[in-house]
Formats: sequence, structure tokens, C-alpha cells
Amino acid sequence: MSDCIFCKIAGGEIPTNKVYEDETVIAFHDMDPQAPTHILVIPKAHIASASDITAQNSAVIAHIFEVIAKIAADNGFENDFRVVNNCGARAGQTVHHLHFHVMSGREFTWPAG
Ligand code: 5GP
Ligand code: ZN
Repeated sequence: MSDCIFCKIAGGEIPTNKVYEDETVIAFHDMDPQAPTHILVIPKAHIASASDITAQNSAVIAHIFEVIAKIAADNGFENDFRVVNNCGARAGQTVHHLHFHVMSGREFTWPAG
């Protein structure tokens, strides 16, 4: 998707503060952090939202959660983090390329928002 900001980050067209990268996934610091640690983990391939996950593209989702566990362990917050996905405008999705917010470093309330 040529007009997608996260595709541009995934493709290296826009520089970002990278935390992790492999062939199918990239993770980087959110530009507007909502917690002391706020990392976004995305598939490099364009998937618009969680409602576009199918049997054909879901392998990367399993991999994303392996990557999240690795990032948490590597950064010492393996027992203390929240993962969030916003799907659709009413849930707060503003970037239409699937991403998981990984946040740590403060207390979180529940239910969220
Ligand atoms: P959403 O609201 O769609 O769940 O989350 C989008 C997130 O992407 C927001 O937390 C926002 O701060 C972040 N974001 C949007 N554009 C950029 C960008 O160009 N670079 C980085 N690092 N984060 C971005
Ligand atoms: Zn995209």
C-alpha cells in the first residue's frame, strides 16, 4: 500500500526508532508514547486491521506474539506488560495497518478506556 505510513516504515522509506526486525515483522517505538515503554509490533505485509486476519495470513500473527515475548524478555518487562489492538475507528484505530501496542512501565486500569 503506497500511501500507508506503516508500510513505509516496514519498507525502510521512513526512518524509525527500531526495536526488532526480521523478514516478516518489525517493532518500533510509538512516536506518541502512552506509557514509559510503548512499542508497536507490525507485520511487514499490509493487513488493514484485526478483522482482516484470515487462515491465509494468520501465521504472522503467531510470530508477532513470539516476537512480543522476546522483546519483553530482552527488555526486562516479561511479567509486566499490556498488549492492545484497536480495530476500527470507534475502538480508536487511527493507522489502518495492523499493529499491536506493547506497553509497560506503569500501572494500567481495567476495563481500559
Ligand atoms: P492506533 O490509534 O491506530 O491504535 O495506533 C496508532 C499508533 O501509531 C499511535 O499510537 C500513534 O502514536 C502511532 N504512530 C502513528 N504514526 C506514527 C509514525 O509515523 N511513527 C511512529 N513511530 N508511530 C506512529
Ligand atoms: Zn500498510
